[in-house]
Amino acid sequence: MNKKQDKKLFYQRKNFWKEATPSTINKAFAFAEPYMDFLNQAKTVREAVAYTEALLKEHKFQSIGGKKGSRRLYQIFRGKTIAMAVLGSEPLSEGFNMVASHIDAPRVDLKQNPFYEDSSSGMACMRTHYYGGIKKYQWVSTPLALHGIVIRADGSKIDVSIGEKDDEPVFIIPDLLPHLARKEQYSKNLAEAIDASRMNLVFSGMMEPASEEKEAIKAYTLQLLKKQLKMEESDFISAELELVPATKARHSGFDSSMVVGYGQDDRVCAYAALRGLLDNLDGIPKRTMIVYFSDKEEVGSQGNTGAHSVFIQDFVAALLRANGEADGSANLRKTFINSQILSGDVTAAVDPNYPGVHERQNAVLFNHGVGLCKFTGSGGKAGCNDANAEFTAKVIRIFNQAGVFWQMGELGKVDEGGGGTIAYILANLGAEVIDCGTGLMGMHSLYELSSKADIYSTYCGYKAFLASDE
Ligand code: MN
Ligand code: MN
Repeated sequence: MNKKQDKKLFYQRKNFWKEATPSTINKAFAFAEPYMDFLNQAKTVREAVAYTEALLKEHKFQSIGGKKGSRRLYQIFRGKTIAMAVLGSEPLSEGFNMVASHIDAPRVDLKQNPFYEDSSSGMACMRTHYYGGIKKYQWVSTPLALHGIVIRADGSKIDVSIGEKDDEPVFIIPDLLPHLARKEQYSKNLAEAIDASRMNLVFSGMMEPASEEKEAIKAYTLQLLKKQLKMEESDFISAELELVPATKARHSGFDSSMVVGYGQDDRVCAYAALRGLLDNLDGIPKRTMIVYFSDKEEVGSQGNTGAHSVFIQDFVAALLRANGEADGSANLRKTFINSQILSGDVTAAVDPNYPGVHERQNAVLFNHGVGLCKFTGSGGKAGCNDANAEFTAKVIRIFNQAGVFWQMGELGKVDEGGGGTIAYILANLGAEVIDCGTGLMGMHSLYELSSKADIYSTYCGYKAFLASDE
């Protein structure tokens, strides 16, 4: 055997920068620009839904149940989850191609009765309750913006966003100074050093001049809230107010080959899927294409907007109706069973500081393309969706035919930890499902890092999969 033949028998993943054409490299850089805009404009679930709807409308998608006859349809449920589709030429009950990702991200929420005047410090503060798997020490002494909605007693709604514009104030949960941290922090382990009950926000400090009032700072701030947001303290009780990093997504690295920003888990996959769909609108596809953004993934996917919700099944039933097909339970089950889904969620790329938590041969590396993940879970694959070999091979075939850079990777070394996605939830409905998404470093941190090569490859992979006839 000569050397050339010999090499052909080996599997080796490809480095995007090494193998991609100059024009493909340019496209990868260009793709990152609107993606970063999405990260900046869509820092919460509701904002991601609103951003997506605006883009869909630009591309002539119709809200389901509206005007009849459109093949481009979408549905929003409770402002926090959205599904969008392009109807194919073949009956939908023959199966659809879907990319499903989530648009919630770890954050710090205000409690329902958050506001208090702290007598020890003489400041007004807000109590918080974190959401999702955060490392609490990352959220102290960092600029935070307050986003969310307030529903007033009369039912009217206020959209809140404070701290994104340069002239707006930002918020801080102050960390303890190192000089005095010996007992409170340095003697404890990392998980306990920041106590969740001490993640209170320093909210305000002024009072009316010459005020003799009890809780004068709180009283002054409530007046400001009334004036500026037309809300009262009792309106906090039903509000959804979230603290997210106030910083913007930025190019990263000396070569600008990366993106650093908050919420890339999982908005990188959501954006890649959305663009994959919108760039597939020439002609009528054979199979119906669906993109689905779920909520609550970071806390278990339950609730009426999580992937466990009936919403996605109801959406597919509505599509069946719109396509003139039976929308009953049997046909809906048949539709899911005939369908194929990429569970678009991020995975952990090898981190130069902690290579030991990965088994490199089976881990995702930056710059080597979108990461397929046959199974997630922990220990002995507990809780996993183990994608079937036939489907895994089919997805690889679709990617190879489209020239997509891809790699196979598991989430960390065996028994090192683990994690899950919504893959198993959709697989429970009978569809073929595999996890497929971008590798990140520093996942769940305020500054998640991704490679522009991998972001672009994720988009190319989703685009090819959605349009596949196979
Ligand atoms: Mn995720
Ligand atoms: Mn996550």
